[in-house]
Amino acid sequence: PAMLGILGGGQLGRMFTVAAKTMGYQVTVLDPDPNAPAADFADVHLAQPYTDAHALATLAQTCAAITTEFENVNADSMRWLAQQGIPVSPSGECVAIAQDRIAEKTFIRNSGLDTAPFLAIRNSGDLDVDLSPYLPGILKTARLGYDGKGQVRVQTLEEARLALSNMKHQACVLEKMLPLVAEVSAIVTRTRAGEATCFPVAENQHKNGILDVSIVPARISPELLDQARSMALQLAEKLDYIGVLAVEFFVLEGDRLVINEMAPRPHNSGHYTLDATLTSQFEQQVRAMCGLYPGKTDLLRPTVMVNLLGDTWGENNAAPHWEVLMTAPNTKLHLYGKKEARIGRKMGHFNVLADTVDAALEQAEAIKDTL
Ligand code: ATP
Ligand code: MG
Ligand code: MG
Repeated sequence: PAMLGILGGGQLGRMFTVAAKTMGYQVTVLDPDPNAPAADFADVHLAQPYTDAHALATLAQTCAAITTEFENVNADSMRWLAQQGIPVSPSGECVAIAQDRIAEKTFIRNSGLDTAPFLAIRNSGDLDVDLSPYLPGILKTARLGYDGKGQVRVQTLEEARLALSNMKHQACVLEKMLPLVAEVSAIVTRTRAGEATCFPVAENQHKNGILDVSIVPARISPELLDQARSMALQLAEKLDYIGVLAVEFFVLEGDRLVINEMAPRPHNSGHYTLDATLTSQFEQQVRAMCGLYPGKTDLLRPTVMVNLLGDTWGENNAAPHWEVLMTAPNTKLHLYGKKEARIGRKMGHFNVLADTVDAALEQAEAIKDTL
């Protein structure tokens, strides 16, 4: 069987690996962490840095196609692999855009799509303009932020200056704080041949900056659902994107959508697809990288996905009581096999499928309360 390579072996890499194995492929995972969750399922685990020349050469020699599970992988490593003649999806160029908020938001704007008003800050002098369009706002580091880390809310120029200096003057964006009606996401799969599909739009609720619950279908108007899908597809096309692309949106008053950010990979808000669509986002990733036609994405039943963070685990990493999830009908538990629970760490998730979104949400909340 053909060998597929993936950069990164976290939970996304793990679920990718399971999907690839289910389809008869072998998998090589590159992840420096010896305990990487994907290593449990991979045929080969290269426990080396993402820039390790020997590990990259091994990938190039043994893999039929290569993908990534996280945006902070070295884009040059991906470009080098592509230069060796191996299909790499998404491309290093797309990953480079997605890993830098300035490049990302600029690209979205230039594609004719809306973002929150933002100001690119490469040095402190960039704050010497009229900041009123961006205040009150959020200062976000351009690189490496996730789960709301690397973000500071600022009301005034003085607070922005202080926050920038606390961030050691790294490149940032200052973004206008918008009143959000809701947050939604759309996950697109696009192949080399240009075939594109979009999963049903998810409505996302966050707690402490971390995704808590995804509700599918999102409870917004059909017109807005259509608009989210077509904006995500448009962005994928402009990027000439190959693979799975997640697009996060803010829903504003007056049924307006702006794009918040993208992820060049499957997304936490797409974990419902493991149980609620015939093809999961991880199978789509396999299909896209292998040049196969994307699978069917229709929602089989309304679904609510609940993240399980380390906060739910007891002392000495004692797992929560799963009995309730085993006995509750229409629920499915997914755990990532992480050796150690920490506050805020994503340990797993569960999906609740029901006849209506409201019923799924009610059941999900009831289960959450017992864990
Ligand atoms: P992720 O884990 O999704 O990658 P992140 O750290 O990259 O998150 P963002 O998605 O930019 O951060 O922001 C995190 C959350 O903060 C958003 O989901 C939203 O709830 C809130 N937020 C971010 N920017 C704005 C804004 N301009 N106006 C209002 N709320 C915002
Ligand atoms: Mg992000
Ligand atoms: Mg986000």
